[in-house]
Amino acid sequence: MTVQLTQLSSLIQEISQMGDAANVVHLIVQRVQEIMEVPVANLYLLSEAQDGLVLAATQGLRQESVGKIKLAIGEGLVGRIASTLHVLNLADATGHKKYTLFPESGEQPYKRFMGVPLIHLRELVGVLVVQGGGDEKFSAEEEALLVTIAAHLAATLSVIQQSDLSFPNPAHENYQRHTGIKGSSGVGVGELVVIGLTEPVFNDEEDGDIDPRERRAKFEKAIDALQRELETSGEQFDEHVSTDIASLFSVYRMMLDSPEFIGAIRVLIDGGLAPHKAVKQISEQLSARFRKAADPYMQARGEDVEHLGDRILHFLCGGGKIDIDRLGSELVLAGKMISIADVSQFPNERIKGLLCTSGSALSHTAIVASALGIPAVMGLTTLEPAKYTGEQVIVDGNRGVCITQPADAMIKAYNDLLDQLELLDRSLEVLKEKPAVTQDGFQIKLLANTGLLADVTPGLRNGAEGIGLYRSEIPFMVRDNFPTEEEQVLVYREVLAAYRGKPVCMRLLDIGGDKPLPYFSIREENPGLGWRGIRFDLDNTSILVIQMRAMLRAAIGLENLRILVPMVSGYEEIQTVRRLLEQVVEQLRAEGLEVKVPLLGIMLEVPSMVFLIPRMADLVDYVSVGTNDLTQYLLAVDRNNPKVSTMFDNLHPAMLLVLRQIIEQCVKAKLPVSICGEMASDPVAVLILIALGYNRLSLNAHNIPRIKWLIRAVDRSQLQVLLEQAMQLHHAHEVRILLEEELEELGWHMPENSAEQ
Ligand code: PEP
Ligand code: MG
Repeated sequence: MTVQLTQLSSLIQEISQMGDAANVVHLIVQRVQEIMEVPVANLYLLSEAQDGLVLAATQGLRQESVGKIKLAIGEGLVGRIASTLHVLNLADATGHKKYTLFPESGEQPYKRFMGVPLIHLRELVGVLVVQGGGDEKFSAEEEALLVTIAAHLAATLSVIQQSDLSFPNPAHENYQRHTGIKGSSGVGVGELVVIGLTEPVFNDEEDGDIDPRERRAKFEKAIDALQRELETSGEQFDEHVSTDIASLFSVYRMMLDSPEFIGAIRVLIDGGLAPHKAVKQISEQLSARFRKAADPYMQARGEDVEHLGDRILHFLCGGGKIDIDRLGSELVLAGKMISIADVSQFPNERIKGLLCTSGSALSHTAIVASALGIPAVMGLTTLEPAKYTGEQVIVDGNRGVCITQPADAMIKAYNDLLDQLELLDRSLEVLKEKPAVTQDGFQIKLLANTGLLADVTPGLRNGAEGIGLYRSEIPFMVRDNFPTEEEQVLVYREVLAAYRGKPVCMRLLDIGGDKPLPYFSIREENPGLGWRGIRFDLDNTSILVIQMRAMLRAAIGLENLRILVPMVSGYEEIQTVRRLLEQVVEQLRAEGLEVKVPLLGIMLEVPSMVFLIPRMADLVDYVSVGTNDLTQYLLAVDRNNPKVSTMFDNLHPAMLLVLRQIIEQCVKAKLPVSICGEMASDPVAVLILIALGYNRLSLNAHNIPRIKWLIRAVDRSQLQVLLEQAMQLHHAHEVRILLEEELEELGWHMPENSAEQ
């Protein structure tokens, strides 16, 4: 058994490194067959679309039967396991009244049969079956082993079952799906262009072959060319995107000046090594050092070093740019790690998607892509972009999937989806100047959530009436150092000026927890309950004071600044912030600056504060409910942990009760209150929020038109009746079903995200 358990743990490790669902299920049956030492291992997955169990992978049956053998729940032995949720271990399956043979599968009438249900979070995922010769049941030890295997695989298979595995479909037959990490949402179709993957070719120049001065001059020439490229790209971004993304280029420029990187390469070249060898050696060493760091932001710096190393090699062997004019009009850029500099070489409107074989959702590329509205998939470890150069590919950033060699029917389905989305967005443009008011006259203010300057524009375009949440940590996160007061003034000023005359709620630095800073590592046993938000800010008073000064200075003459305090958990924290704010105002006035005292609000994210609303009324001017963290802390469910993600639900009955208590308390205390968590983008939740009486919602700018359409379609008094019904329910999913029915009646049928099926 120990040997088999070791095999099982290496299988789990192998699976974790594979991206593609079809490969994962195939590997599972292969390994189960080996571990259990049987001729046949089959995996059936529950498929809602097919209304039953479908053979998803087999070892021992004909491969063509995958996706074709289907069983209803209760049908055959496999269906029976699914209906009873019990193991079935039989010495002679052929004699069982439920036995069915599928001749097309090439199945031998093996007598020994054992099947176990795959269950994840109490839901049936599928059935795992082994079959073999002989006429005795599988032993108790073998049964225990198969049950253990099933328990370990159920979570992975549940993800595949819900989102990933598509069975062969005649219309879309030969496509390949590569699963990665969601980098930036949206879907796009275009011609694949490989970026920087081809290995530069060098002459056979050996170390010491050429004159040392010539060697060094060659290297310096490459560095100059790279510096020029960074400058041009940076300027292009200045025009297209604005200063905060452009400042990412300063990371590269800083690296080009650093003694650890370029300095170390120079030492090796002067010591006699050929330039390309020196570049490779140092960039590999340095990036390996970064990649070993526990902090994901430091790991991402390893990507930057590798990218710069590749660019230097590119210029060392002669350089040269991609001839954009010879490419199609709609492009998908694919490479190991596409950098901001790469993106800047192409006109924005021609880039329909980005595919990176490495990287994560925290990579700069992902941040930039979402600010620019370009779909992106990261960490596509199984994709070999060069194989698909010049071919049409599909980027599905909503699900972190890339599809290569799609049939024409599938491309058409995706293009139709894009057209539908565009049509829908265009049809909603007419609402821009119209108020978000219900049929019975309940008026709601729709504000935008932003963080990068690049997503300020979509808010304005979509009629946002202000910024309800400016996540100030984002400009801190895309830099390599704490920004200075002057740098912060420039960034904040740009946001405040863009929204002149409209309120802008700037949140004080909210780092820690799941938002680490690249240059300030915080290691904690339990970061969700640790040094985060205002706790960090108050302990680092100078950082906080600089930020307050920058915000106040940026608002001079505009006077639309409101300050928002994150992760408040006690009364004294607000008292201290209030005192500090007053001191900063005095300080700036003493310096001759005419600053105004801004409204001060708190994020309601920690449950303790729900009970303290009446006591806060004299200290704060408004409240903004951060439903992401409030749900996390109220339900004790980590918002980033996929194992418990199904338990994270804003519509949990306890959340509904808390949201009712918050609005009632705020009304009593005459405190304006808004919602700024993801809940405000969820149409189902919006129905509840309207009924409860929330009249300020702050959400992702792209969702504003659709939510406005919804608000204008409903009658609040009817929703209040629905709310009372929802309040009587015991489960979040029951609340969701009730509200989805209402959405359907209202005619809410926005196109689905996927056109794959
Ligand atoms: C929230 O917690 O709901 C919120 C808006 O803040 P963030 O998602 O940035 O933690
Ligand atoms: Mg939060």
